Amino acid sequence: MSLGKFMKLSLNAVKSNLMSLDRPYKLTFSISYWCNSRCLTCNIWQIRPKNELTLEEIRRFAKENNYFKWIEITGGEPFMRSDIVDIVQAFKENSKDLYIVTIPTNSLTNHDMVLKKIEEMLSTGLPRLSITVSLDGNRETHDKIRGVPGNYDRCMDMWRRLGELKKRYSNLFFVFGYTISRYNQGMFEQMFNDIKKDIPDLTYNDFHINIGQISDSYYNNSNLDIKGERETIANDIKHVVDRRRFELGAIPIIETAYLKKLHSYAKTGEMPMKSRGLDASLFMDSYGNVYPSIMWDRKIGNIRDSNYGLGQMWHNSDAEEVRKLIKEGKEPASWTACEAYQTLAGNVASLL
Ligand code: SF4
Repeated sequence: MSLGKFMKLSLNAVKSNLMSLDRPYKLTFSISYWCNSRCLTCNIWQIRPKNELTLEEIRRFAKENNYFKWIEITGGEPFMRSDIVDIVQAFKENSKDLYIVTIPTNSLTNHDMVLKKIEEMLSTGLPRLSITVSLDGNRETHDKIRGVPGNYDRCMDMWRRLGELKKRYSNLFFVFGYTISRYNQGMFEQMFNDIKKDIPDLTYNDFHINIGQISDSYYNNSNLDIKGERETIANDIKHVVDRRRFELGAIPIIETAYLKKLHSYAKTGEMPMKSRGLDASLFMDSYGNVYPSIMWDRKIGNIRDSNYGLGQMWHNSDAEEVRKLIKEGKEPASWTACEAYQTLAGNVASLL
């Protein structure tokens, strides 16, 4: 069953590189902008969101658009939404070929409650649930960047408890999500060695890496100075690429390819490949606004104005204009996992 869903996802990914898809297979969805962190790199925690999509509205959206194979849930802190399990369940019930759901956490919400929700999601029979534990440094650096004393220790606790859960659920996967900014550039190796004291079996494959980004439509952080030195960031990424061990499986292979391209993006600031925004994928915020990607402030519509279906919006003039810009190589340069994975997955040559 899982293999079948994985094959369907792979086929869609390959097809998306050969032709335009009639509908997307990947959804990146910010389910809420509420956040209990105080990050130096992001202003989402300062937002007091109003009128976010209700569970009923999300259920309607999931029913009207029942073709997602890959859902990347994001926030804010997604686990601050008490109905997160119902949200995942709604997509699972409607998108019959749903293969993977990914969710990040800052580890600041009550762990008993978060772990219970994760277990409930795993029990739905979802083939793959991937949890990203955000971690930007050793104890001192992480707590400084995240603005919450004790956050590092909570990340370690979350990691250990996910390890315990993994013994009972083979469909659970988890990694640390490390975001490089000017606050932690050049510090990866030190951080890795420090964390190894707390987690002796830690490996480089346990890390997913992003470069801190500026975006007004998402992070709301264009007033912040977070960017580091290109060369220093590129060296951190190369350090990880050189030390990752080979793992068989599509996701680890794509992750390695993603990191290699991230290294080139760090060095040049140029987009390594054209994205698949509004073809294979889309970003939807917690108010129902639809964008080509998490980093591109180019709204094409709102699901509340389209009876919760993407249908007509998907082919409106704004959407066509975005596709034209992507084709012409005029989209804003960014290389985030939210967008990169589907680009890489559909391009076998890029994985070699
Ligand atoms: S980076 Fe994540 S945890 Fe930090 S403020 Fe932004 S949404 Fe919250």
